[in-house]
Amino acid sequence: MRYTIVALSVSLMAVSCFAGEKKTPPAEPLPVREETVFNAPDTIPRELIEQINREKERFVPALEQLIANDSETLLVLVDKQHRLPESYSPPDLVPVTTGRSYIPNRADLSLRKGTEAALERMAAAALENGIKLVVSSTYRSWKYQEGLYDRNVRQLGKEAADRESAPPGASQHQLGTVVDFGSITDDFAQTAAGKWLAENAARFGWSLSFPDGYEAVTGYRWECWHYRYIGPEAAAFQKEWFGDVQQYMLEFIDAWIRWKGVGD
Ligand SMILES: [Zn+2]
Repeated sequence: MRYTIVALSVSLMAVSCFAGEKKTPPAEPLPVREETVFNAPDTIPRELIEQINREKERFVPALEQLIANDSETLLVLVDKQHRLPESYSPPDLVPVTTGRSYIPNRADLSLRKGTEAALERMAAAALENGIKLVVSSTYRSWKYQEGLYDRNVRQLGKEAADRESAPPGASQHQLGTVVDFGSITDDFAQTAAGKWLAENAARFGWSLSFPDGYEAVTGYRWECWHYRYIGPEAAAFQKEWFGDVQQYMLEFIDAWIRWKGVGD
């Protein structure tokens, strides 16, 4: 079953309508407005779509603005079903290095320029609260991810590997807008940094990609250390309309953009 949201912003088509049977059509049939219907992805919970439908006059313009403002394509959907090509690498990578408010865990880290700046803003705020954010993993190329995934499959078996590592092209890390913080283990959630991030990251535009209890939705088990930069507006939008689940928002936006593209 598909849940529908009627889009208000698309042009309305005038179609002829003859009431009843064919015998005596009126000389000048009145045009009726046929609204174009957007089918929200099945994967998004019904109650969220119903809420959006109830408030679509507010939702649709806010969504359109969010998409229009996304000049850096921070909101692109990447998962096991929506993969990046091998040829994709971010356009504006900069090194994640020492001399900033965060602590890089190794020497070869990099992020997109705007994402690194956003990380520095968040890390500076954390530092004011006495919290040091340790950056452990950032951009990964398609090739690097391939090696990582293959190694995990060899060591853990495919089923276990798939729960916590992405095949090449399916990792958000290829976007250059993702940071794994701290120990990259479940224990991180109980550290001061882990707790600080859970409470504050959204204010700075960072979103926990794989929250606890959503493995069936995201395709990954809980990763308390993996944050994606989507911008403060999108982080607030995700919280207001999508139950604070990044996957729901990005799936919706992906479907919406494809739908609008077909209509153009
Ligand atoms: Zn990660």
